Amino acid sequence: MSQPTVPPLPQIFNFLQLAAQNPTQYGGNAADAPELTRILQEIRDLSIPNGAQHSAQGLEPYQSIARANNPTWNARPDLRPKISKFRIVKHTHWGKAYWSPVDLLGLFFSRLEPAPLGATVRTFFLPMTALFGRWAFQLVGHYAGMQSCMWKIQDNGPAQFFLGASIVGYDADIPTCGNWRRVIQKARYSLLPNESLFLRDWSFANSPHGPIHPKDDYPLGNCAELYPYLHLLRGVDESNKNVYGIALKKKGVRSPSYNDTLQGSVWQNVQWPCVKCRELIHIQEGVLANFAPYAGSKGAPP
Ligand SMILES: [Zn+2]
Repeated sequence: MSQPTVPPLPQIFNFLQLAAQNPTQYGGNAADAPELTRILQEIRDLSIPNGAQHSAQGLEPYQSIARANNPTWNARPDLRPKISKFRIVKHTHWGKAYWSPVDLLGLFFSRLEPAPLGATVRTFFLPMTALFGRWAFQLVGHYAGMQSCMWKIQDNGPAQFFLGASIVGYDADIPTCGNWRRVIQKARYSLLPNESLFLRDWSFANSPHGPIHPKDDYPLGNCAELYPYLHLLRGVDESNKNVYGIALKKKGVRSPSYNDTLQGSVWQNVQWPCVKCRELIHIQEGVLANFAPYAGSKGAPP
C-alpha cells in the first residue's frame, strides 16, 4: 500500500515559517506575526525526531508534550507510581494554554485564512481535517485516534474554523512515568469551563456516559473536539447554533490519498461526537444535528 501523500517535516516547517513571517499573505493578520513565530518555535521544539523539548536531556522518555520534571518524583520514590514523573509546561496564546504541538498546529491554522466563501464539508472541512491529521502525524510520529473540525457560519463573511485532535504523542509508561497520563488528561479537562459542568454534576471523575462508547476511558475534555469547542462554542450565545462540526477517525487519516467516495476510507470513518462531547455541545446550546457525520455528504459519489 502506498503511503499518504503528505509533505515531509522540513516542508511543513518551511510553510509554517513563511506564514508566521508574513501572515497577511496567508489570510492572517500582520499583528499576529510575533505570536505565530513563538507558536512555530514551540511546535518545532516539541516535534520528532529531535525537537529541543521533545528530546531534552533529563526529560526521558522523549515525547511531544511540553513537560518539566516533578521534584517529588525523586524526593519521594515511595509515592511512585501514584505520582507523575513530569508536570505539564503550559504555553499560553491568546488566553488559552497548550502543551502539544498538534494542538498548537490547530491554533496556528485558525489564525490564517478562514474557510473559503461557500466552503462545504466536501470541498473544505473534511479534506482539511484529514490534512491536519496527517500533518499532526508528521509532527509527533503517531496518528491521533480522532481529529475534529468545527466551524462557525457567519451571516456576512467566511466561516471561522478550528481543528483539534485527541491526546497523542505522549509516552506514559507507568513504571517509568507514574500517573503522567492522568496528569495530561486532567490538564485537558481543566481547560473546560467548570462552572457549567459543576452545575450538572459532571467532573473529571464523573463524566456523562452512555451507550455510544462504552469502552473508552477518555474523561471529559480528552476528545479531539476540546480546542475547537473552546474556541467556537463559547458562552451561551445565540450564534452557537451556527457552529458545525465533523469528527474523523484515525483510519480516515491514514488512507493513502484523499478520496471523496462514500465507500472510501474518509467517509467511512466520520462519526458523531461521543456522548461526552454531545453533552458539552448541549451545555453551550449548540445544535447536535450540525454534527451529524453524513450531514455534509450530499453529492459525494457512492
Ligand atoms: Zn468526545
